[in-house]
Formats: sequence, C-alpha cells, structure tokens
Amino acid sequence: MIEMQEIYKKYPNGVMAANGLNVRIKQGEFVYVVGPSGAGKSTFIKMMYREERPTNGTITVNGVNLSKLKNKRIPYFRRQIGVVFQDFKLLPTLTAYENIAYALEVIEEEPKIIKKRVMDVLELVGLKNKARMLPTELSGGEQQRVSIARSIVNLPRVVIADEPTGNLDPETSWEIMKILEEINSRGTTVVMATHNREIVNAIKHRVIAIEGGKIVRDEHQGDYGYEN
Ligand code: ADP
Ligand code: ADP
Repeated sequence: MIEMQEIYKKYPNGVMAANGLNVRIKQGEFVYVVGPSGAGKSTFIKMMYREERPTNGTITVNGVNLSKLKNKRIPYFRRQIGVVFQDFKLLPTLTAYENIAYALEVIEEEPKIIKKRVMDVLELVGLKNKARMLPTELSGGEQQRVSIARSIVNLPRVVIADEPTGNLDPETSWEIMKILEEINSRGTTVVMATHNREIVNAIKHRVIAIEGGKIVRDEHQGDYGYEN
C-alpha cells in the first residue's frame, strides 16, 4: 500500500509542487495520474520511490515510512518498486538481456536465477527473440518493453510509470498498456502519470487529477477529463 498524509513539497527555487496531498493506494490497484504540465504529477510519483523527498508530511510505501528511511536503505527499498520512464533510460552499451539482468546482478542474485527471470520477463513483454539487440537496434516501443521488463524483474509489488507512452505512437502505446495491464492483473500495483486521453478513457481505472500540487479529483473508473 502507498499512503500520503499531508504532503508538501517546496523545491529550493520556491515552487510548491505538492500542496497538501492525502492519498491511499491499495495493493493491486491501477491508478492514472493526470493533470496539466507543471501540475505536480512527476513530483507526486517521484516521492513514492524516494527520488524526491517531501518538505512536510508522511509517506508510507509497502509498510516503510519514507521519512524515516536511511539513505543506505534506499537501494533495498527500491527493489520493491519498478520504475518506467518516458525516455526508457536503458544503458546504451548493454543488450536488452543485459539491461534487464543488471538489476539482478547488482544484488548478486544467483546466475541461474538471473537467467530464468530475465527470460521469463522477456517472454512476458514479447521480446525473447531480441534479447541480444542493443537499444539502438530496437524501436521505441521495443525499448519501452525492455524497460518494463527491467522494472519487473525484481518482482516488485509496485510499478511506477511516468508517461510511459509519451514518446510512442498510438498503436505502440496500446501494446505497452496491454503489458502494464497484464502486470497489474498479477497483483502488482501500477501508478501511471499520463497525458493519454484515449487510453485513460478506454481502459478504465482510478483517476487522480492533480493541479497546482493538489488532488482536485479522485475517481474510481474515472475519465481523463481535460480537453487536451
Ligand atoms: P508535472 O509532472 O505535472 O509536469 P512536475 O512535478 O514535474 O509536474 O512539476 C511541478 C512544479 O514543480 C513545476 O512548476 C515544475 O517547474 C517544478 N519543479 C519540478 N521539478 C523541479 C526541480 N527539481 N526544481 C525546481 N522546480 C521543480
Ligand atoms: P540519483 O537519485 O542520484 O539520480 P539513483 O541511483 O537514485 O541516483 O537513480 C538513478 C536513476 O535511476 C534515476 O533516474 C532514478 O530515477 C532511477 N531509478 C531509481 N530507482 C529506480 C528503480 N527502482 N527502478 C528504475 N529506475 C530507478
């Protein structure tokens, strides 16, 4: 579960990106985070995996109080959270396989287990036959599938995606959604910031709308709700 209580975030330049956020996201939910550019969506989700720290308030993720989390515990905490970015953030000199395996190598997982898990997630995202390709040899959609595979190879309980379809064409975006839906159907919480009105209105889930660092709408099976 993810819980925020009275969360405020003021950046050093004085911008208030979170202005009293209160939210509870249960294990297994799928949540869209929508709102205009600069509304505070990225800040909201970055605080969930401790990429940003609130100025005030309490965040608990999977039972861990993030304000009490020591810096040296952050890598352990992050193993329970998969993160997917709009621009994929793959390591350019590593193959698809190696990009995914890396997350398990750093925690010194057994080689046999690494191989099995990487092949399992490559299969889940439909890229078993491209395991040896470098990111530059893959399409944008394929790179995003590698990045999703990397995010789930640790079997996290939560996947956080910041505009995962932002750089992809509509057809490819639907393929990425199918994978996120599959991951969610296996019990993983998915929190996804998005500007994709078609997807939000077609694949119904909880919608949290943020404006000016505040939650202005929180609806079960909500609509996108903005004109563009
Ligand atoms: P969104 O994801 O909805 O576009 P962000 O969370 O990225 O919104 O940004 C919210 C506000 O905080 C914006 O005004 C943005 O310019 C500001 N902001 C975001 N990151 C930083 C930062 N690292 N330093 C200063 N201001 C920031
Ligand atoms: P820093 O916060 O100094 O940039 P980190 O090692 O925390 O360094 O993160 C490096 C990059 O990896 C950042 O862009 C961060 O957002 C991203 N990241 C952090 N945790 C995860 C995760 N669990 N899965 C995927 N990417 C992550």
